[in-house]
Amino acid sequence: MANHPHLDTADADAELFDLLRIPSVSADSTRRGDMRRAADFLRAKLDSLGFTARVDDTAGHPVVYAERLKAPGKPTVLIYGHYDVQPEAPEAEWLTPPFEPTVRDGRVYARGSTDDKGQAYAHVRGAQLLLEGAGELPVNVKFLIEGEEEVGSRNLEPYLRAHADELKCDVIVISDGSRFAKDVPTVTYGLRGLAYVEVHVQGASRDLHSGSYGGAAPNPINALATIISKLKDEEGRITIPGFYDGVHELTEQERGMWRGLPHDDAEFAASIGVDALPGEAGYSTLERLWGRPTLDVNGIWGGYQGEGSKTVIAAKAGAKISMRLVPGQDPHRVAELAKDYIESLAPEGTKVEVIDLHGGQPVAMDLDSPFIAAADRALERVYGRRAAFARTGGSIPIVAAFRTILGAPVLLVDMGLNEDAPHSPNESFALDDYHNGILTSAYLLEELAK
Ligand SMILES: [Zn+2]
Repeated sequence: MANHPHLDTADADAELFDLLRIPSVSADSTRRGDMRRAADFLRAKLDSLGFTARVDDTAGHPVVYAERLKAPGKPTVLIYGHYDVQPEAPEAEWLTPPFEPTVRDGRVYARGSTDDKGQAYAHVRGAQLLLEGAGELPVNVKFLIEGEEEVGSRNLEPYLRAHADELKCDVIVISDGSRFAKDVPTVTYGLRGLAYVEVHVQGASRDLHSGSYGGAAPNPINALATIISKLKDEEGRITIPGFYDGVHELTEQERGMWRGLPHDDAEFAASIGVDALPGEAGYSTLERLWGRPTLDVNGIWGGYQGEGSKTVIAAKAGAKISMRLVPGQDPHRVAELAKDYIESLAPEGTKVEVIDLHGGQPVAMDLDSPFIAAADRALERVYGRRAAFARTGGSIPIVAAFRTILGAPVLLVDMGLNEDAPHSPNESFALDDYHNGILTSAYLLEELAK
């Protein structure tokens, strides 16, 4: 694997290691200079490849933008990545220094190696491979490499809006995550969205003695438990009226594809220390994780939580509840439906108020899209096997921002693995994954040109 007449892996490694040596920790205000250095490094590299490249200031850390538009009539591909990294703490747990890339057993250990410098740089080297081979890129390519992903991409949305014309493209490619498994090249074509509400239950105007008032006074904690118990039925289905309206049902094609993935329920359960995986009846674990909406209480409070006992009926109780959403659902509408239903469940003598905290849109690309087919062909050329088409249960807010602001579909072609330990001490990136990533990027641009 990773055989290509123009792929100089030693040079590709050395350059990546230089980038990894720059401690571009976006959360650390003492490293603003390093952030700038990392941005300049990428700009200079893209400039040397013949891209028109620049570093744009934002209210936070700068954005690197580069373009090479020399394929008239061909699609325009926007490649997104980020050059900022997570803080290295706890530093004592690193076996080798986090900003001194060290190779052990075919993996380079360094903060940012997989997330996301290694994956972003694989695309830079993929473009280089094509330029050294054919002399020109087969499609128009734009690079957008930001410096605030690890701190919430605060300035990216305004940047996208301000540069929407310049950033126009046919498809957006992101490599900033993990493949399904080492030998399973993966295209992620869907992400769940999110609706998040906070529930406040008010009973009496003050905390009460449970002996003097118990049996007559409303109890907000009991009330909250009653409400929560009514949000799902025995089959694990969410009971909020209208919650499932518009939900895109999984197709037989998707269910068949996911059944073919190497997933084992017992292993998955063991990996989180449980002996059962409760959820919505009629759906497999992967279907429930990737293709079905859910509702989970994320926090709950009320009453006495100190040592020993205190006989009290609390005046207030509350909970935080998140709902993961799938295509066809709108976060604000779902939050409204949840609010109406939860407030309607208020037991006698209590007042219930629901606040909509925040939301994110679900996204999914059409499986019949020519971009999906191109990614499939590119990955087959690299790995010698067809790609897995997966969704993911989490949400990536920037993906929804790309979709809504630039209006282009987003293709997630992950090169890393969970075992790379992004965000953890001893983060690493397998060098063969990096080299295959370079080929994947090059072949993807070739296949997108067809
Ligand atoms: Zn990342």
